[in-house]
Amino acid sequence: MRNIIRCKHCGDTIELKATHDFQLCTRTSVGIDGGLDYLKRIFGSNPAEEHYEELSEYE
Ligand SMILES: [Zn+2]
Repeated sequence: MRNIIRCKHCGDTIELKATHDFQLCTRTSVGIDGGLDYLKRIFGSNPAEEHYEELSEYE
């Protein structure tokens, strides 16, 4: 599984590579949390699609 999103504000792609990891994009518009156990998204307000593009992959 990959935990990865692309920020639509700054174009950053952020990916978590370890459990309990946490990352924000350059402009801190969006973030991801949870590492590889679960997927948590941090963003300003709904709808989420305006803030990031989901690139995560499941197997
Ligand atoms: Zn961003």
